[in-house]
Amino acid sequence: MSASLATVSYIGATILFILSLGGLSNQETSLRGNLYGMVGMTLAVLATVFGPSVTAAGIPWIVGAMLVGGGIGLYAARTVQMTQMPELVALMHSMVGLAAMLVGFATYVDPNAAAGFVGAAKTIHELEIYIGIFIGAVTFAGSIVAFGKLSGRIGGNPVLLPGRHFLNLAGLLVVVYFGREFLHAETLAAGMTPLIVMTVVALLFGVHMVMAIGGADMPVVVSMLNSYSGWAAAATGFMLSNDLLIVTGALVGSSGAILSYIMCNAMNRSFISVIAGGFGTVNAAAKPAAGAVQPAGEVVAVTASETAELLRDAKNVIIVPGYGMAVAQAQHTVFEITRLLREKGVNVRFGIHPVAGRMPGHMNVLLAEAKVPYDIVFEMEELNDDFPDTDVAMVIGANDIVNPSAQDDPGSPIAGMPVLEVWKAKTSIVMKRSMASGYAGVDNPLFYKDNNRMLFGDAKKMLDEVLVALKT
Ligand code: NDP
Repeated sequence: MSASLATVSYIGATILFILSLGGLSNQETSLRGNLYGMVGMTLAVLATVFGPSVTAAGIPWIVGAMLVGGGIGLYAARTVQMTQMPELVALMHSMVGLAAMLVGFATYVDPNAAAGFVGAAKTIHELEIYIGIFIGAVTFAGSIVAFGKLSGRIGGNPVLLPGRHFLNLAGLLVVVYFGREFLHAETLAAGMTPLIVMTVVALLFGVHMVMAIGGADMPVVVSMLNSYSGWAAAATGFMLSNDLLIVTGALVGSSGAILSYIMCNAMNRSFISVIAGGFGTVNAAAKPAAGAVQPAGEVVAVTASETAELLRDAKNVIIVPGYGMAVAQAQHTVFEITRLLREKGVNVRFGIHPVAGRMPGHMNVLLAEAKVPYDIVFEMEELNDDFPDTDVAMVIGANDIVNPSAQDDPGSPIAGMPVLEVWKAKTSIVMKRSMASGYAGVDNPLFYKDNNRMLFGDAKKMLDEVLVALKT
């Protein structure tokens, strides 16, 4: 493939990636968005593999690597549960970080890559390597810790070292100092020492940064690491002089940054404070661990048939799905119940919290999979004022996102986070297996409210029973 054809293909791929992002911003166009992305990526890979920078001898290596990588990806996509997606995404971000680090070191030691760079160009080339490895190492280490936290291998509580901000500052100064040493190094060996020291500091910084973030703020971390992985890819693009990688990395980096900002707004958090760590910590030490919440009153349990009765008598119903619906894979039964109630003339709507589940858009994906019509699925702020006019608010496997202590208890780790005000409905029904707390490990006073009912059990099993009761 000639250089000009490769360039044209790269431009085509860039346009397709932008169209893909545009498509993904809306549920109705998301399928098309995915298709654009797939075609764009195929074009990008073909133009790179058969483009001018790859020799014929290199092609079997690339094809071999793609087969191994593709095989692992296919296996992961087939076996991973929907609820494990955030962990998988975190792991994939770590791969991007690792790739940026490895490309950085390889570019530095490759005599061909350095050839032709003299004077200012050499400095810029080395700066790209240094910054690329730094971003890659922070992304790699941070994503590994995020993977550990999301999969429950590492505890969700923030680990706050004494003087952590000074530690971060000291780390930054060390990175700047060794950056200067690296740029002034006369030989490859002399440059290697500052590069390795910086890499170790960057890895420690990545671990420290994510360890210090509390459970309730993990959504921001996931999207922030998504953004970092984009910048790591862009840095790799600079090192390899690959324009498409620079553009694609910048697209991922900036869209991840915008998503982080939106998530922070949705959770009423300041972006800088989340990064600096320590949010969700005010009373975290005094709080019981997740799953060990102390009872704070009486709860009223109901049966599936009583729930069906309440639903049958209702005119307006709002369903609030959460992580438990994803675990139980109850979305299809939810859809069946919705269809039945709508046939009976009940106005059923869905209220989606921006951080419901374990990844942005988690609930929307599940509801779309179950074919719930888009026009009855609403964002939190679109229907939060409607709860007082709602007969039944049905909470399916959600907990933190319907916790009134976010509004009432300034000492709560989730204080200030906007929540769906289900307790304002005539009756709220919370469907979960036990009295255990949610992801943030916070007790939920909703359970003890007079107008609240608890339907204990696996969401899928209980909803199946509700469906049967509704039909009879
Ligand atoms: P929560 O984690 O707060 O609560 C989920 C509830 O579901 C649990 O209390 C659990 O209770 C219940 N549950 C689990 N399995 C089942 C089942 N099989 N059947 C019925 N119930 C079940 O989830 P929310 O969606 O309310 O809130 C999301 C939380 O996750 C927030 O704290 C958010 O910050 C955090 N988070 C969100 C991310 C995102 O991007 N969306 C990323 C990372 C974290 P029980 O065990 O008693 O059944």
